[in-house]
Amino acid sequence: MDFDLKKSEEKWRKFWEEEKIYQFDSKSKKEVYSIDTPPPTVSGKMHIGHACSYSQQDFIVRYKRMKGYNIFYPFGTDDNGLPTERLVEKEEHVRSRDMSREAFIKLCLNYLKKELPSFIQDWKNIGISCDFTKLYSTINEHSRRISQWSFLDLHKKNRVYRKDAPSMWCPECQTGISQAEAQDKEIESSFNDIVFKVDGKDVIIATTRPELLPACVAVFYNPSDSRYKKLNGKKAHVPLFNFDVPIMEDARVDKDKGTGLVMCCTFGDQTDMEWQKVYSLPIKTAIDRSRKMTDIAKEYKGLSIKEARKKIIDELKNSNLLVGQKKIKHMVNVHERCGTEIEIIKSRQWFVKYLDLKNEMLKWGKELNWHPKFMNVRYDNWVKGLQWDWLISRQRYFGVPFPVWYCEKCGETIVAEESQLPVDPLKDKPKKRCKCGSDKFIPEKDVLDTWFTSSMSPIISTKLLNEADQKKAFPMNLRPQAQDIITFWLFNTIVKSHLHFNKNPWKDTIISGFITLKGEKMSKSKGNIIAPQAVVQQYGSDALRYWASSLKLGEDSDYQEKEVVTGKKFVTKMWNAANFVFLNLKDYKPKPVDLLETDRIFLSELNKLIENSTKNFDNYEYHRAKSDLDNFFWKIFCDNYLEIIKKRIYNGNQKEKESASFTLYQMLLSILKMFAPITPFIAEEVYQTHFKKNEKDKSIHISSWPEKLDIKSKKDDEIKFNLLLEIISQVRQEKTKTNKPMNSQIILTLEPERLSIIKDMLDDLKGVTNCSSEIKPGDFKVEFL
Ligand SMILES: [Zn+2]
Ligand SMILES: [Zn+2]
Repeated sequence: MDFDLKKSEEKWRKFWEEEKIYQFDSKSKKEVYSIDTPPPTVSGKMHIGHACSYSQQDFIVRYKRMKGYNIFYPFGTDDNGLPTERLVEKEEHVRSRDMSREAFIKLCLNYLKKELPSFIQDWKNIGISCDFTKLYSTINEHSRRISQWSFLDLHKKNRVYRKDAPSMWCPECQTGISQAEAQDKEIESSFNDIVFKVDGKDVIIATTRPELLPACVAVFYNPSDSRYKKLNGKKAHVPLFNFDVPIMEDARVDKDKGTGLVMCCTFGDQTDMEWQKVYSLPIKTAIDRSRKMTDIAKEYKGLSIKEARKKIIDELKNSNLLVGQKKIKHMVNVHERCGTEIEIIKSRQWFVKYLDLKNEMLKWGKELNWHPKFMNVRYDNWVKGLQWDWLISRQRYFGVPFPVWYCEKCGETIVAEESQLPVDPLKDKPKKRCKCGSDKFIPEKDVLDTWFTSSMSPIISTKLLNEADQKKAFPMNLRPQAQDIITFWLFNTIVKSHLHFNKNPWKDTIISGFITLKGEKMSKSKGNIIAPQAVVQQYGSDALRYWASSLKLGEDSDYQEKEVVTGKKFVTKMWNAANFVFLNLKDYKPKPVDLLETDRIFLSELNKLIENSTKNFDNYEYHRAKSDLDNFFWKIFCDNYLEIIKKRIYNGNQKEKESASFTLYQMLLSILKMFAPITPFIAEEVYQTHFKKNEKDKSIHISSWPEKLDIKSKKDDEIKFNLLLEIISQVRQEKTKTNKPMNSQIILTLEPERLSIIKDMLDDLKGVTNCSSEIKPGDFKVEFL
């Protein structure tokens, strides 16, 4: 039988969809197992990391389905906020800030309408078994309603506030951002030794940011630094800008950095901000939202940061106020979306108040079952390092609007009523007048951080179900996700779930690792991208999944084409092995039999395999299950068992044939079922071609996970089994050594001890080694006829 891999995969994909094999069954009495599927961000095509991690979560889900759970496995797309805006800007060659808000939103929506189906198709193509009728998008009405409800609920619980305060700002994206979006990046810069005057005498301060001189509000040194004790309480004169600032002590100053004297500028960095608060220093803004110098920079006003830095350094040099310059590398914060250096800028923003909950957050993290366990540490480190409340307002267009207006007359904040949701404050109005009697309102134009919405994914997805089912599906069973968004998605979802419902959103989480190529991160600029679409095209989805199943959860791994190639070979081997089996089982109907010793022992090995694979899948260690299954299929089933029964099934008597038929059938079906979560396409192909006529289930994927067969095991089974395989291998080696074909006839001599252990399997041993007469006792010897 010929096998067209591409056609086969296509055929089953269609079959699963048309027959609704993966649909959640609302009428089912089975226990629900619910998955908080990661909604992939619509910011390009599916990449190889996705293909790998979604395959891995699918192994677990398919296993659970076969174990008898009613699976709720929805699919969503994360298609609002900055990532989508930047994609649309790139693809449509526009800039949102040059367009009207309305026109840009329309462009985004049209773009999504056009691109989403093919985007989602990539996920279908790798064979994930989501219920694609339970579909959501984080910008659709359903998600907007839930996201805005979340805001209202937090507002009611006094967990959101709006404040005009220094906050992180991306000058490129022109929006406030949250701490989770700030990434460390090492850049080259220089330390400039600048002369300040104290009582007419020089003191030297080293800084990487001389353009902030006009915003200087104090000078600090470490209290244990004896060099500067005498300066305490005095004033320092700021060069070029000619004003005085106080000199103060603070333990946060690093004595060994620069000269040990530091200038504090209101929004220089995090420490500057802390000093501003602690010592009630004045607020001076030197840089505006578009990274231009402000009024206080006097003659440098309007210059970019770079230009101002250069001019100020030149001027200091000219005035002999720059006494040294040293190249250094240091860490700065950049925006993870665009790589631009983050500024701290005073602006009016909405925040979720949660810094007071750190201890609780750590406890919530502990309640969750992490796979692998060590990922919990990353969560803990993030919580411990939190310094800001969650900034949730974005000065962008394409996102979920705040359900908020402000009274034009008295300034009161007015939130929407729940029955109004979803609202667009730019178009809709509050239901009632303001307390002051006014009915004139200013809409909030900002949109919510995209994570504010995606952190509601457990609710967004379970609300796709009817009310009774919602209760069964939430808290959810599993959150699969990538490790790089523990700080964004996982953390924020936990926070939201606790603030809203006082419980963890899921029981378990599985975290996938990064995929690299030859140890390097894949990127367009390096030209080292492996496109999963091309891999599927060339080798098939099963082969790709086969590779993914060889990787542990949470482990960073290289893409291995070798393993994909092996996966394709596996598919062919499975197809051929199954066809060989059924050539001999033409009209076979499964029925109980008296087993021959060899068959009983092989089935007892199969039972061990079933037990171990079940345990491994239960522990999310599908890679162990796969490795055991692989070994069993290739070495035990194909290389040995099929060879052993070949003769018996042609020439044996009724009893011998029946025992072999039973064993073949059960062994292949169990192997196939256990491979089904990993390589679902070939499993379905073989099942439908050969097993379907005897097995009742419409698809192998809704058939039940194999149970151990009711076989009497004996305590020396394993010894017998290993010995049989060892002797077969020894004979084969002799044949290879003497360049004889494998089917050449031999006379076999075996040590009496070994002979007696396998005395009940001698006919099979003779068959598989092609031994033409009784096996003789003596030293091991293979004679050729
Ligand atoms: Zn940015
Ligand atoms: Zn009012």
